[in-house]
Amino acid sequence: MEKFDCIVIGAGNGGLVSALTLQKKGKKVLILEKGLAPGGLATSFRRGRFEFDVRTHELCGYGGVGNNGEIDSLFERLGIDSKIEMMQAQETFHVIDKLTKDEYTMPVGVDHFIEKMEEYVPGSRDAMTTFFGLCEDIKDALSYLHSEKGTIDEKDLYQKFPNFVQLAPYKVDAVLEKIKMPKKAIEILSTYWVYFGSAIDDVSFVHYASIVYSYVLYGPAIPKYTSHELSRALENEFKSAGGTIYYLSEVEKIDVEDGEVTGVQTKDQTFATSHVIANLSPKVVYGKMIQKENVPVENCQLENERILGAREITVYLGLNASLEDIGLHHSTYFLSNNLNSKVEYKKMQEVFHGNVVGFVPNVINAKASPDGTCILTLTSLIFGDGFDKLVSKENYFDVKEQFGDYLIRCFEETTGISIRKYIEEIEIATPLTFARYTGHPSGAIYGYMAKGYDNLLPRIFSEEEETRIKGLRFCGGFGSRLSDFSSTYLNGEDVAMKTLGE
Ligand SMILES: Cc1cc2nc3c(=O)[nH]c(=O)nc-3n(C[C@H](O)[C@H](O)[C@H](O)COP(=O)(O)OP(=O)(O)OC[C@H]3O[C@@H](n4cnc5c(N)ncnc54)[C@H](O)[C@@H]3O)c2cc1C
Repeated sequence: MEKFDCIVIGAGNGGLVSALTLQKKGKKVLILEKGLAPGGLATSFRRGRFEFDVRTHELCGYGGVGNNGEIDSLFERLGIDSKIEMMQAQETFHVIDKLTKDEYTMPVGVDHFIEKMEEYVPGSRDAMTTFFGLCEDIKDALSYLHSEKGTIDEKDLYQKFPNFVQLAPYKVDAVLEKIKMPKKAIEILSTYWVYFGSAIDDVSFVHYASIVYSYVLYGPAIPKYTSHELSRALENEFKSAGGTIYYLSEVEKIDVEDGEVTGVQTKDQTFATSHVIANLSPKVVYGKMIQKENVPVENCQLENERILGAREITVYLGLNASLEDIGLHHSTYFLSNNLNSKVEYKKMQEVFHGNVVGFVPNVINAKASPDGTCILTLTSLIFGDGFDKLVSKENYFDVKEQFGDYLIRCFEETTGISIRKYIEEIEIATPLTFARYTGHPSGAIYGYMAKGYDNLLPRIFSEEEETRIKGLRFCGGFGSRLSDFSSTYLNGEDVAMKTLGE
């Protein structure tokens, strides 16, 4: 039986970074991935002459040349910074309020963002300046937490980052109201809430501010050759450092004896190890992979308590005309029924709710598709169980087409831009598609929902306490930093360092 210092289950963002970090520290690491390629959701697929990025939107925290974003620094530490090409957007987002028909386009850069907001909402400047000041404090505090790798000196934290400590328990809406931000400015600023999958009265201010700040400061970034480029660079670096990766190797069982990990099993192989990092849902790990008597009751309780995050329907469109011919000018279109995220979140419990995010990579990267063509992806979050009630084995493909048709219609009607006549390729992904590819329960792409006390900081601070089987840790979207590219990458490094410490 081959023995490894650590076995990483799943080659998603979190898994790849964890594995590479440990391998670079001189450990013998094996990645077991059930699919054919690295990246999990961070990959691409081809239809005809188009290559679509599976994850549709952008990465935050990448500063680019002359800047030192958290993700640039991470890529440098991992040794992939010179092996990838990133491109940055010139605007953060374009949001359309379907109710009032008002449209807002927000630029990149803190000063530009504040100025634009003042134009749209006169009298918002002071509150916006305060907001970005707090963002700066939060960014520094989170970098400190990341650099301390879980060994946090609380006294030091209080002294160095008093604002951060004070803000830690509050949700987004409470802080923005407290700093007297005008209502309209709060609504525009909370546009990104759909990326979090929870309304602003549920998302922690610290979490929201850190992500929004990264988008505004540096601009959203995309890899030139889709996110598969990033995943492949991580995989290549891992292999060059001596790491082993087996594809088509689904882990079925994690062996645990006397409360400690001893190995993992695929269908036809068993490997020995005392450290496992799982890049998948704890619900699957505790529910299916570990013998019942070895699962701590506290972990079962936690799993029953946590709510799965949002799911998604995504329509990938390859269009046979240029941006100019079609009239697509923005990289990210947020189409909202209501800019108040609390009202919108309630409305989105319906299945056909009309909240759609459109992404056009060609606005950032002209070469994202062949000359004279462009790509548009339309995404809609799914909350509640409406989708499950609607879908049966018999009607699945009809429902899928109905969704595709509906999202295209929403986009056309809200923006006034005709799309349908330019469609050359179309692919539709539903929660079932994402469940099949990632193995995540119900196809949840956002890990667990950030809700109440189960938010970013409590998760970071209780991560070690939740580690009740010695040697078993979780990384990625179900990890403590929650979901999105930057968070899953950074969490991958955190978890690797904790494993190394152990
Ligand atoms: C449509 C869409 C749009 C998105 N847009 C954005 C965006 O604009 N910006 C952003 O930052 N994020 C976005 N995201 C989220 C982002 O893609 C995810 O947060 C991130 O990719 C998740 O990474 P992860 O580390 O959790 O791994 P995952 O991608 O979840 O990968 C898990 C891996 O584990 C493997 N696996 C599972 N079970 C087993 C097993 N038993 N044995 C072996 N291997 C196994 C799976 O095959 C998979 O490769 C989007 C996601 C989707 C779906």
